[in-house]
Amino acid sequence: MAAKIIDGKTISAAVKEQVRAEIERDRIKAGLAVVIVGDDPASRVYVNNKKKACELCGIQSFEYALPAETSEEQLLELVDTLNSDDKVNGILVQLPLPKHLDEKKVIERISPLKDVDAFHEMNVGKIMIGNYAFLPCTPAGCMELIRSTGVDIAGKECVVIGRSNIVGKPMAMLLLHANGTVTVCHSKTHDLPEVCRRADILIAAVGKPNFVTADMVKPGAVVIDVGINRMENGKLCGDVKFDEVSEKAGFITPVPGGVGPMTIAMLMRNTLTAAKIQAK
Ligand code: NAD
Repeated sequence: MAAKIIDGKTISAAVKEQVRAEIERDRIKAGLAVVIVGDDPASRVYVNNKKKACELCGIQSFEYALPAETSEEQLLELVDTLNSDDKVNGILVQLPLPKHLDEKKVIERISPLKDVDAFHEMNVGKIMIGNYAFLPCTPAGCMELIRSTGVDIAGKECVVIGRSNIVGKPMAMLLLHANGTVTVCHSKTHDLPEVCRRADILIAAVGKPNFVTADMVKPGAVVIDVGINRMENGKLCGDVKFDEVSEKAGFITPVPGGVGPMTIAMLMRNTLTAAKIQAK
């Protein structure tokens, strides 16, 4: 039986509508600054999408497009300015940065109260202990998608493939907070297919096209595909071999139209949260 498709576009539209309605109802002023350095085409697309989402939600967006040769000092200076600008509630520095810039240093410079990506060490620590204001957008979006299936995470075997600080690790932590039994797999994991086959909920965040095949999936599982891989023909492809896995899983996210739109919707929600916290 074919899996039910988890429609990230519809679910993300609902999240953005909630954000918009709350901003309108409570007359909240919220602003998001997006900083992009260089002219990476994929980053440009993401930044444009974020801008569009801000417009839709009634969030003021401030874009800073800096040349690739921007020095670290200049970038840090801009972050300082945004930290002390009352109109800016959230700051997002689009990654990856050009090689000569130290991403860690830049992220740590963002005020934790305006860190709507939740990448700052202080916010990462808060996520670890389960006492957080912001959740990192992609894992938070995945959680919304899982919840939309009606499958209760509590007690379920959850397998996350990938252990990056941005996706894999916080994803595992959120599943753990929801009482899942969580296994984190990575490039050194032995017999990955065997581990994956245990999963009631399988999250693929590897960055390799068609990496997860049907033999790695338990019948009826919830499969969340975080991967965004651009193929030679220009098309986007996930980490999951959709055609065959969708014949075996219970629920599956498509790429595009699954996790991607959710990431932006959660960014809007985080910006609203930041504005409310800063207004207090
Ligand atoms: P990353 O490269 O930092 O991490 C990849 C992880 O995969 C690593 O932890 C590594 O151990 C693991 N891995 C690599 N090869 C493996 C193997 N053979 N077996 C098991 N594990 C293996 O990537 P990332 O930043 O976590 O992103 C992962 C994917 O998610 C990418 O395709 C990225 O574009 C995508 N992504 C999507 C969104 C979104 O909004 N949808 C957001 C962030 C990232």
